[in-house]
Amino acid sequence: MSVKALSVVPGKPDTAGVRDHPDPSPSEGALLVEGVLMGVCGTDIEIIQEGYGWAPPGEERLIIGHESLGRVVDAPAGSGFAKGDLVAGIVRRPDPVPCAPCANGQWDFCRNGQYTERGIKERNGYGATQWRVEPEFAVKLDAGLGDAGVLMEPTSVVAKAWEQSEKIAERAPAPQRVALITGAGPIGLLAALIGVQRGYEVHVLDRVESGPKPQLVRDVGAVFHAGEVSEIGVQPDLVIECTGYGPLVFDLVGVVAKDAVICLAGISASNRKFAVGLDSINKEMVLENTVLFGSVNAARRHYEQAGEALAKADLDWLNRLVSRKVPLSDYTDALERHDDDVKVAIDLRH
Ligand code: BGC
Repeated sequence: MSVKALSVVPGKPDTAGVRDHPDPSPSEGALLVEGVLMGVCGTDIEIIQEGYGWAPPGEERLIIGHESLGRVVDAPAGSGFAKGDLVAGIVRRPDPVPCAPCANGQWDFCRNGQYTERGIKERNGYGATQWRVEPEFAVKLDAGLGDAGVLMEPTSVVAKAWEQSEKIAERAPAPQRVALITGAGPIGLLAALIGVQRGYEVHVLDRVESGPKPQLVRDVGAVFHAGEVSEIGVQPDLVIECTGYGPLVFDLVGVVAKDAVICLAGISASNRKFAVGLDSINKEMVLENTVLFGSVNAARRHYEQAGEALAKADLDWLNRLVSRKVPLSDYTDALERHDDDVKVAIDLRH
């Protein structure tokens, strides 16, 4: 018996392929899951095209896929799961030492870097026709979500970004609850969704005015802006930066309200170098009590928060985010950018 999976030789660009792999080992978890969809994000493209990622110890290939959606095929009694449940798998596993945050279920704050990640770092991912997962690292989804459940992992990442931002923002004596999201990709749109659900006045900035994103922003109840951040005409006191575009980060410091919190939730593979006036940025941040911080990954509670946010969201809107589903055998097409793409997913059922 074997499963079909999308795998690479990490460190060697262009070794990606759909291959037969042995059945997932019960050591990977007691839940046996049939793959439904695997979301594709920048990290997957970096793994496939630029040689990022790490294979499991002793293996040559890494099965990729960390944005998962599957249906339970077999669940042990008492696991809290039953055959047919729609599930997503958590990405990160605690380091083996473990460090204090990992020992506490806060692997997203791992201190020693020895954490592992499904589909990225030393553990096979969810981009397979069947996979296994430990019940404590699986999250049950609202059955009605259907294919939109593939948005679970990116939503968990923004749920953490929001939680951390609001925690820090509590220090401000007079918050205005005006949020700016930079980037109207899937992460930015999901960040806008959570902001609207939390009662913020949400603004979303993107470079492009064409395609489905502006209307998706408006339909979630946020205001769409295209162009320069200096021209948005509002002073946000909470920003979730989702583009990973370095120069924008420094422009944001000049635009935000006093006492603002800027959360960096995006990264880019590029190594651009720009001259910036660090002294004036330093001065502005000090004089205006600005906080600039980064946020990565998600703990179990963020997946639970994400599940709640998705369950409350308009299902048609979520389905518009999953703009293209590509059969596993045509995975190369999922890596190409099409004009109307928002979130592209690989369909593991075909
Ligand atoms: C994933 C995170 C992961 C990070 C670093 C992102 O694409 O969404 O879960 O921690 O990559 O590997």
